[in-house]
Amino acid sequence: MASMDAVLGGYETRQAVLEASNNNPFSQGIAWVEGDLFPLGEARIPLLDQGFLHSDLTYDVPAVWDGRFFRLDEHIDRLEASCKKLRLQLPLPKLEIKRILVEMVAKSEIRDAYVELIVTRGLKFVRQADPKDIVNRIYMFVQPYVWAMPPAMQRTGGKAIVARTVRRVPPGSVDPTIKNLQWGDLIRGLLEAVDRDANYPFLTDGDANLTEGAGYNIVLVKDGALYTPDRGVLEGVTRKTVIELAQKNGISVHVQVVPVEMAFQADEIFICSTAGGIMPITSIDGQHVNGGQIGPVTKLIWDGYWDLHYNPSYSFAITYADCKRDCETVV
Ligand SMILES: *Cc1c(COP(=O)(O)O)cnc(C)c1O
Repeated sequence: MASMDAVLGGYETRQAVLEASNNNPFSQGIAWVEGDLFPLGEARIPLLDQGFLHSDLTYDVPAVWDGRFFRLDEHIDRLEASCKKLRLQLPLPKLEIKRILVEMVAKSEIRDAYVELIVTRGLKFVRQADPKDIVNRIYMFVQPYVWAMPPAMQRTGGKAIVARTVRRVPPGSVDPTIKNLQWGDLIRGLLEAVDRDANYPFLTDGDANLTEGAGYNIVLVKDGALYTPDRGVLEGVTRKTVIELAQKNGISVHVQVVPVEMAFQADEIFICSTAGGIMPITSIDGQHVNGGQIGPVTKLIWDGYWDLHYNPSYSFAITYADCKRDCETVV
């Protein structure tokens, strides 16, 4: 079974190799725009794209770990479901998206990647048009893995706060089950967290219940069971993985309304996201959680999560060899 040292040590070794291989123009990221590939730093979007002008878009973020895509189909399926709810059409067939993403990762030679797909309305505003007549756009990019909580902090745990200056946007205004970039509330939460000597805001629903934070779901551990909010949140793929792991380990999971008060009574707390995995929280509003130590349930889920990245039912290997010469033969 994976330990934190083995998982993070392996990652650091691969990082060092990536940093040494600076002859590849895509080693710091690669982007796909309108059928062309660019080094990420040179990729541009048209100013008139409604994704930029009105945040009229949805997106998703899968990841690659140690050269393997993790739960890619789940992310593409969620992207498709989000598009449907926004009356957007996925601009490319799912299989084609998958093929392009694998090609991009292979070309970049990045072994641990953060992968983003963005579907925008396109170049036409909805006010004067039928959504069916608007040509939607897709943008994709791959970059080195992004840590919502850096590895060093994962060894000791991060500091969270319950945001007081902002609440999560109500689900009747912005549907949180559609992954979106209307981050006004989440950014305010992040700024408040920094002001209060923390990094991880927990936003409430305005009725003293927890929702989620800036790109992560919240999980509490109390008396050996897991609790995670059922509404006002994105249904995270990582959260789903956590639920499956808990069930496999005989830990009961309650997806329910979670009062803020429960966070202060919790035995353990962690947050979870594709960008960072299972991230232990050992302080909430300046008060220790589990005496300031990462707890046993968090550790169990942490190890199980990274183990699954090598399980062929959850991940598949990318073929990198010779890709710069001829990608078509390997994807
Ligand atoms: C992406 C995201 C999450 C985490 O979802 P994963 O599928 O686990 O990466 C949680 N909350 C919000 C607001 C998000 O944008």
